Amino acid sequence: MAELEPVRLEYAPAPESTDVVHLRDAYGLFVDGAFVAARSGRVFTTVNPATEEPLASIAEADATDVDLAVAAARRAAEGWAARPGRERAKLLYRVARQLQERAREFAVLETMDGGKPIKESRDVDLPLAAAHFFYYAGWADKLEYAFVGRTASPLGVAAQVIPWNFPLLMAAWKLAPALATGNTVVLKPAETTPLTALLLADVLAEADLPPGVVNIVTGGPDTGAALVAHPGVDKVAFTGSTEVGKQIQRAVAGTGKALSLELGGKAANIVFEDAALDQAVEGVVNGIYFNQGHVCCAGSRLLVQESVAAVVLEKLKDRLSTLRVGDPLDKNTDVGAINSRAQLDKITELVAAGADEGGEVYQPPCELPSRGYWFPPTIITGVSQSHRVAREEIFGPVLSVLTFRTAEEAVAKANNTRYGLSAGVWTEKGSKILWMTSRLKAGVVWANTYNRFDPTSPFGGFKESGFGREGGVHGLASYVRLRAPGDG
Ligand code: NAD
Repeated sequence: MAELEPVRLEYAPAPESTDVVHLRDAYGLFVDGAFVAARSGRVFTTVNPATEEPLASIAEADATDVDLAVAAARRAAEGWAARPGRERAKLLYRVARQLQERAREFAVLETMDGGKPIKESRDVDLPLAAAHFFYYAGWADKLEYAFVGRTASPLGVAAQVIPWNFPLLMAAWKLAPALATGNTVVLKPAETTPLTALLLADVLAEADLPPGVVNIVTGGPDTGAALVAHPGVDKVAFTGSTEVGKQIQRAVAGTGKALSLELGGKAANIVFEDAALDQAVEGVVNGIYFNQGHVCCAGSRLLVQESVAAVVLEKLKDRLSTLRVGDPLDKNTDVGAINSRAQLDKITELVAAGADEGGEVYQPPCELPSRGYWFPPTIITGVSQSHRVAREEIFGPVLSVLTFRTAEEAVAKANNTRYGLSAGVWTEKGSKILWMTSRLKAGVVWANTYNRFDPTSPFGGFKESGFGREGGVHGLASYVRLRAPGDG
């Protein structure tokens, strides 16, 4: 019988309307419950990475601005901490419901500012951000059950610095547990994606959050450095690169500030020969091409058992040819724009290094838009453990492929990294899953799935992926001082 040609479906354009978004020309800092001009007098522009068009002018906070924001958070701290937990919960529930109500507006804005496909901001970022506020609202009046036999009190003023890959979601991960436990906050969004955090400021104000409880200072590394070093800060929570995490750790050493760090990763996604291979290939694709691979826990190293390597690669390449790369606002788009020119340059440089070191680079034929920042989904085979593409976080849609023969070898290779954030295991055998998960040095291990998130589940790293957990009851612990009966 003649072999059937695979069916390639053409999709008509399905662009999401941007009418729901009402951009201002310029945004100030959100301090003490109101938008104010930066004392620095400086501004920067945030652009749409899919078109390179400027979206808005953003205030850049300097040390004086940071000082004013920390002072506002300090003034609000006592009153906020003294509120009964159920009152704090009420306000957090309001925020969660507002996020649900305005989900479309937030999702479109997130996609415009960051370049991620609308179906991801709509179906992942927004529902999860709302879920985090709901979840921690639930804890706000039950802290005595979270820490049985001990009394939890807030740390005070939390400085929170977040990255650009999940701008609103990272803000939610940071704000919800801090506020539920009675802390006040100064939040610094990433410089390429400040807009959804600034829209969240509107929601917080509408929810009647008292002035000063959340302050938002925009700017780049200097703003972040001024914030974490500020003597009025009691707690620093950082999500971003390992390199900056180390700088922050040095900056706060010896100051008595509490610190949690959520840093980079280089996860192994491990496929055994007994896995359901089609399902595994879907998981591998989701693991590395979701959000253009701008994911700290991305399954960026595929470890595939040698006996099935050829067939898995063939299936992967076939699946790659069906991924739709392009306009992030199109509801059919699978892979959107790279977040910034700088990130595109970094990905390009690392993939070139992969080829120089002897890897074979595969990219499916795909037409990329002429403007904006784009990188096609990429697979690099023939990678060995010493190659840069096996060791360094690329933070782009690039999968490095290595093989293994035994489970022991898979564990050794998976753990041969300075990171320890996440891993994936694909096998039909439950016993093998348990055997692997007890040996993998990673904060999260997914089995026969990947990139699953839930606010009730703690997330965080080992080794140079950081310390402290976000999510779950563990996420509360980063924001409280605990006293046992009889403690001074
Ligand atoms: P980045 O470290 O360059 O920047 C993160 C944030 O820190 C930004 O807001 C930036 O302005 C600020 N910053 C930069 N230098 C600073 C300094 N010296 N002091 C204080 N703040 C400073 O990281 P990025 O490129 O925005 O994000 C990508 C990185 O984030 C990746 O390594 C990724 O793995 C990591 N990440 C980790 C998690 C996690 O949960 N573990 C989640 C998302 C992203």
